[in-house]
Amino acid sequence: MKNIIKYKAMVLSCMDPRFQKPVHDYLKKQKLSGKYSSFTIAGAAIGVAHPKFKKWHSVFLDNLSTSIKLHKIKKLIVINHMDCAAAKMTKKKPLQNIDEIDIHKSCFRKLNKIMKKKFPYLKMEFNIFFLNKKIKKVKL
Ligand SMILES: [Zn+2]
Repeated sequence: MKNIIKYKAMVLSCMDPRFQKPVHDYLKKQKLSGKYSSFTIAGAAIGVAHPKFKKWHSVFLDNLSTSIKLHKIKKLIVINHMDCAAAKMTKKKPLQNIDEIDIHKSCFRKLNKIMKKKFPYLKMEFNIFFLNKKIKKVKL
């Protein structure tokens, strides 16, 4: 098979319908159109790292591993978003914005730890989309 396209990354994002277009537009702006594989699951990093969704974790890791083999990607771009139903499912009480950011960040840290162990050569990028459609990079 001829493979002249250089794939750059896998994008891990949430299934929330409100964020499909913003995520797509953001990646286009980054000149990544056609250059990334995509894994979309409830909660993005929350779905693949929070204990509440344990059953989903290995499905993600298997898909990531497959994309690394098939597409030779070098990076995982994680895009979580605010007002995420999966974030709410991790808590019984209603969330204030600040609490929700803590949930995203703690899942980013968990995921980063898993990645360092399983795929240490993979670059990581963590982002949160806000409801005003602004995206913010998160440094761990
Ligand atoms: Zn969500």
